[in-house]
This record gives sequence, structure tokens and C-alpha cells, in this order.
Amino acid sequence: MTSTPITDALRYRPGTDLADLDTRATPGFDGDKDDAAKELPDLAPEMADLQEKLFAAGYTGSGQRLLLVLQGMDTAGKGGILRHAVGLLDPGGMRLKAFKKPTQEELAHDFLWRVSREVPAAGEIGIFDRSHYEDVLVVKVHELTDAAEIERRYDAINAFEKNLVDSGTVMIKCMLHISKDTQKERLLARLEDRTKQWKFKPEDIDERGHWDEYQAAYATALERCSTAHAPWYVVPSDRKWYRNWAIGQLLREALRAMDLDWPTPDYDVEEQRARLENEREGGE
Ligand code: AMP
Ligand code: MG
Repeated sequence: MTSTPITDALRYRPGTDLADLDTRATPGFDGDKDDAAKELPDLAPEMADLQEKLFAAGYTGSGQRLLLVLQGMDTAGKGGILRHAVGLLDPGGMRLKAFKKPTQEELAHDFLWRVSREVPAAGEIGIFDRSHYEDVLVVKVHELTDAAEIERRYDAINAFEKNLVDSGTVMIKCMLHISKDTQKERLLARLEDRTKQWKFKPEDIDERGHWDEYQAAYATALERCSTAHAPWYVVPSDRKWYRNWAIGQLLREALRAMDLDWPTPDYDVEEQRARLENEREGGE
């Protein structure tokens, strides 16, 4: 039911006003909620095959790896994506990292220090729940460092990502785009449900008070850090089923584009077969 490649439909094009991108849209999908919910699990066998090929390639010396970066306002659905779309992947070849408020030790280093230690190794799929972009988002909104340092960071991020990509990483950077009304609904839903109250913090409402400043900071990050090597994707996320489906598709498209195949053994298969077949009791 996909009409255009999802990467084309969702890629952020510099110059676009973030506010003009509809948070309820469903680009690249022409079905409904039920269709999306049915299609997502259908991706699992192909994803498993591609992921195992990626892992096997890493095992035999390829530098290929994949990094999915998830950013979004509170309640945008990072957790839901981990359960639904990322849940299709084998945890064995996956590396998940949630970035929280930096520790004292982390703050004593350059902002990329803690991030560079968490990038996926060859053959792995890395998932960042928040990322180095917090250092130009929350840090900018709350003026946690001076303006010149924040200004420096956009170029530093581009150079960091260029290095990752040049050494074999495919990056999928996703902004989960929700409306302010949707956030209110979801925060209210958290308060109303005993099983969700733990996800709510009173500070979430304070952060919401800075909505416009966050949107402006996101707009600048998208504008400055959408590069040919590491584009941003804006995923409309007011509809949870579309958001999950779209991330699943982005992962699949990225894996497909990596042109993965089973590695060729570095030994002679026939020779090894003969050795086993000619094996005699008590040794060769
Ligand atoms: P959550 O993802 O809801 O568990 O929240 C993690 C919190 O850590 C959020 O409030 C982020 O804004 C905050 N955080 C993550 N990275 C940074 C950073 N580099 N500087 C300051 N706060 C951060
Ligand atoms: Mg939170």
C-alpha cells in the first residue's frame, strides 16, 4: 500500500517551514489504521533477514551499521516506536541508548563525548532515544550554555555525522512531529490512567510552556543539520499507527538500500566438506 518511497515522502527539505508540515498527515500511505496495524508485523520476516545479513557482514569485516535517531516533544511516541517498530528487530544485533540529563562527568567533556561512545559497532543497529540534538534543543531553550557554544554545535554535529557515515554508518534521523493539542490530550491521558501516571512529571507541563521555543529550536536543527549524508525525516506523529508504520518502513528501506548479502566464506567449502566426510573414527 506504499505509493512513494517513504524516504522521499518524509525527507525534510531545507527551506520548509516546520509549522507547515501537517502533524496528522499520512505521507506514503493510502490505507487506514487497520491496514497499517496489519502491515507492520508483515515486515518482520524481511527485517529479520536483512538484519542478520547486516550482522553477518559485520562479523566478517564489513563496517556497515545503522543508526536510528529518535527526537520529539514529550509524548511524541519514542516509547511506542520502540515497542512496535523497533520491536520487529532482533535484540541481539541491536544497541539501544536513551540519553538523559548529562551527568557531572559527561558535562565535563565536549557534548559529543557521551554520544560517540554509544554509536553502533559494525553489523549493529543502534537506536538513540534522544541524542546529541538535545544539546541544541533543551540546552538552547533553557540557555544551559552560551549562545556561541550552541552556534558552534551545528557544524560540530555535521562533521561528527559525516565521519560516522564515511566509516559505514547509515543514519536515519527522525523528528516525531506532534501538535500542541495532541500533547495535551496525551498528557491528560497519562494522568487519567493509573498504568500511565508514572510516565508523567509535573515538569512536563513547564516544558510545554516553552512549546514555541522548542519548535524554533527544532526548526533550526532541521535546517542546519539536514545534510546529503545524514538527512532528517519529519514523521507526522499525531496518529500513532502512522508513526509506527512509517518508522518500520524507514528502517526497511534503509536496510534494503544497504545492498546486503551473505558474506562469501574465506575458506574453501568443498575442502572443508571433504575433511568432514573423510573423517575416520579416532581422528583424521
Ligand atoms: P525522558 O526521555 O522523558 O526520560 O527524559 C530525559 C530528559 O533528559 C529530558 O527532559 C531531556 O530534555 C533531558 N536531556 C537529554 N539530553 C540532555 C542534554 N544534553 N542536556 C540537558 N538535558 C538533556
Ligand atoms: Mg518524559
